[in-house]
Amino acid sequence: MTYTLEGSTGTWEVVIGLEVHAQAISNAKLFSGAATAFGAEPNSQVSFVDAAFPGMLPVINGECVAQAVRTGLGLNARINLVSRFDRKNYFYADLPPGYQISQYEHPIVGTGEVEVELADGSTKVIGITRLHLEQDAGKSIHDQHATKSLIDLNRAGVALMEIVSEPDIRSPEEAGAYLRKLRSILRYLGTCDGNMEEGSMRADVNVSVRHQGEPYRTRCEIKNVNSIRFVMQAIEAEAARQVEVWESGGTVIQETRLFDSNRGVTRSMRSKEDAHDYRYFPDPDLLPLVLEEDWVAALKASLPELPDAKRARFMQSYGLSPYDAAVLVADKATADYYETVARGRDPKIAANWVTGDFFAALSRLGRSIEDAPVTAEALGGLLDLMADNTINGRIAKDVFEAMVETGWDASTIVKEKGLQQVTDTGAIDAAVDRILAANPDKVAEYQSGRDKLFGFFVGQTMKAMAGKGNPALINETLKQKLAAKKE
Ligand code: ADP
Ligand code: MG
Repeated sequence: MTYTLEGSTGTWEVVIGLEVHAQAISNAKLFSGAATAFGAEPNSQVSFVDAAFPGMLPVINGECVAQAVRTGLGLNARINLVSRFDRKNYFYADLPPGYQISQYEHPIVGTGEVEVELADGSTKVIGITRLHLEQDAGKSIHDQHATKSLIDLNRAGVALMEIVSEPDIRSPEEAGAYLRKLRSILRYLGTCDGNMEEGSMRADVNVSVRHQGEPYRTRCEIKNVNSIRFVMQAIEAEAARQVEVWESGGTVIQETRLFDSNRGVTRSMRSKEDAHDYRYFPDPDLLPLVLEEDWVAALKASLPELPDAKRARFMQSYGLSPYDAAVLVADKATADYYETVARGRDPKIAANWVTGDFFAALSRLGRSIEDAPVTAEALGGLLDLMADNTINGRIAKDVFEAMVETGWDASTIVKEKGLQQVTDTGAIDAAVDRILAANPDKVAEYQSGRDKLFGFFVGQTMKAMAGKGNPALINETLKQKLAAKKE
């Protein structure tokens, strides 16, 4: 699905590259032993290193390095066995040292790729330029005091993995799909919790527009967008703005902008600084980071099965459609839930129930899968009652709703409410006879060729049996009796 904007000078295409800041899961910060838990009392997790007291020295946290390497491996990227930390110099009140330790020319992870699934069923590969490790800054708080700004340094020094994409993205939809896929990979890997509301994953969105076939034009960077929906909205707004600038004879200037989600527009924040403004130079307090090949290989061997591999396996061993497989593997907890339901049962029926009634119940109740109202074992039990013909598919839906409501298992509900399927042919014969006798006109119409009425008879019979009749037996009985009447 191509995304374009029409203007008086022709059709415009949008070019997007994303820089994602993902907080590495680690108990301690990148260069200090201070804790990283979210939501702590302000300034309660700050070491002398984070506060940049004179003479303090950074010491690299091996777990953060491992998290960056795992992430690189999960993005099918090149791991650079030698990388280096640089100082990126700038002044800000929440940055006590006056510089951020980052990686510039020699990042820990080089080029890689992420495959994303789009709504029309197609897939697209988005290139990864690099992943580098850097420190987060502190937080300035401007709304707590009338005349003063407050600073919370809990976040200062927390390890971020900056994941930079190639400008391969061409629509808001692709940007959303990329971010969802990236978040899914990070969560599978256990390297970032991907929680955008808590700020542990944030995106800088680079946008430019061009006529098809042209070289890239100037981009603007929209900083720190903190939800996938806002990223998509920001791209739409910014692309429309740029088209208007170009078409009215103006020039888009490279700058940093902010997305105002209330008004749905981007506005200028500052002109874009170039790399030389930061006077990057190697941090003299830190040695180059050298990784051993064996260590990287061991990390690689210990990676969990990732979404793409799981999806391929679900299609192969369960016979699922690409779409169902993608939906089920997007989240590891969902994939695990599904596999528990499917074990020893019909995998397609299991997929239908998980993506159908089960997902609907979750969204209706606003619950997550971790907090599901029906366990995978219990849903499996319901499927077993259908498989052994204790209940029919229609009644199963009611039983499922009762399970959601009461937390009871399926067989208890079926027994309590007497919902067992009626397979007694005597009872079915009697119900069919009653329905046919009560509707002589419909029977006549059916005999004269209105085949569609068959469904009416099935429905009436089922209703007469309170929904509990065995559908196959009802069908068969009706066919026989209608045929017999004709002779
Ligand atoms: P900077 O440090 O200036 O932000 P980076 O190399 O870190 O530069 O990031 C540049 C980002 O901008 C990348 O995600 C890249 O894909 C994207 N980008 C580069 N050129 C364009 C362009 N013309 N239009 C849109 N995005 C672009
Ligand atoms: Mg950047």
